[in-house]
Amino acid sequence: MGKPLRTQHNRIVGNNLEKIMTRRNLGQKPLADMIGVPPNTVWRYCDKRQAMFLETGGQIAQALRVSIDALAYPKTLDFNPVCPDCKSYILSHSKLKMSEGIFTEYKCSDCGFIFLVKSDRNKR
Ligand SMILES: [Zn+2]
Repeated sequence: MGKPLRTQHNRIVGNNLEKIMTRRNLGQKPLADMIGVPPNTVWRYCDKRQAMFLETGGQIAQALRVSIDALAYPKTLDFNPVCPDCKSYILSHSKLKMSEGIFTEYKCSDCGFIFLVKSDRNKR
């Protein structure tokens, strides 16, 4: 048997994990401690050669305060704004219709911070 392959899935998960860790300013060792695995395990995920079990993915998502989607799918992170207050990813939003136009309301599930972004889809 050769080296484990960097499958597409491993790449996506590894890239997402690295992005989240960078934004959180969290190293491999502290994350490993948080989820109770050897630092080598986190290194292997970041190296994209080890597939992540769903159970581990859940623990990591919980430790990093993101949804498991943010780890599992490509580009999820790019679509999710970051809370200006606590830097968590904001994973849900809703549309608000006001007299000034249509707004998207983002609410941080970690700290409760709410902010509005005016929708640019009001074409006349
Ligand atoms: Zn927040």
